[in-house]
Amino acid sequence: MIRVPSILLACLACVSPTGLADSIPLHLSGEAVQGGLLIGRTRPGADVRLDGRVLRVTDEGLFLIGFGRDATQPVTLSINAIGGRLEQVLSPASRDWRIQHVDGLPAEKVTPPAAVLRRIQDEAREVRLARNQDDARADFVAGFIWPLEGRITGVYGSQRILNGEPRQPHYGVDVAAPTGTRVVAPADGLATLAHGDMYYSGGTLVMDHGHGLSSTFIHLSRILVEEGQSVRQGEVVAEVGATGRATGPHLDWRMNLFEVRIDPQLVVGLKPPAPMAEGAP
Ligand SMILES: [Zn+2]
Repeated sequence: MIRVPSILLACLACVSPTGLADSIPLHLSGEAVQGGLLIGRTRPGADVRLDGRVLRVTDEGLFLIGFGRDATQPVTLSINAIGGRLEQVLSPASRDWRIQHVDGLPAEKVTPPAAVLRRIQDEAREVRLARNQDDARADFVAGFIWPLEGRITGVYGSQRILNGEPRQPHYGVDVAAPTGTRVVAPADGLATLAHGDMYYSGGTLVMDHGHGLSSTFIHLSRILVEEGQSVRQGEVVAEVGATGRATGPHLDWRMNLFEVRIDPQLVVGLKPPAPMAEGAP
């Protein structure tokens, strides 16, 4: 069993006024954990950086921080605003991943045929392009719901080792459902990729929720929205399938903060920290 840490909705780091940080507020919701997403709130207009890299901040002072599956290093969050400067180190907690060894497979099941390598690369590039949109939209602020309800048959971070060769970890959450089951958008967003048949992922839909946060649905039998179309939370956008390299019909839902893989199970229900009453500086 994999222990998924419960989502901490309360304030993780309510910085008390001391010294230079006198009047710089910082509240974080979510968990600093591998695969975790944090939503931060500080003073609107603040300059927010993570290890020196500038983060996009909404008009309300909200910003996103993500930790990948294999993140082990602490990151430094620094906030500069009128009235002071604040620095906070965030260390991602480790998780245990389910590792499954499968041996004795025919070689062609492990390595894709050379003829499709070019196609695989082209498709990966297309998906990367969609995931790297850096849009000011802030659809993530309203929170995320499940795209469909069902039995979870695969979790984020698990990995199979085929004939001794480690495969790419599984980055989605799999929800089993019959082909044709309707899937809804987990949050408002913009469809940035709608591809009917990719080699590995089959019917593939990417939705951008702003600030680099995106959802990807794969193995779809039908996609009901077009690239460039805005979607609303709860709107039917696709149907479950078993397209691409899938063993049976299910929805595989992935989340990314740009190239950082996020565990969707840690994001469902995650809400930004509440606006805080700020005392006079
Ligand atoms: Zn999957």
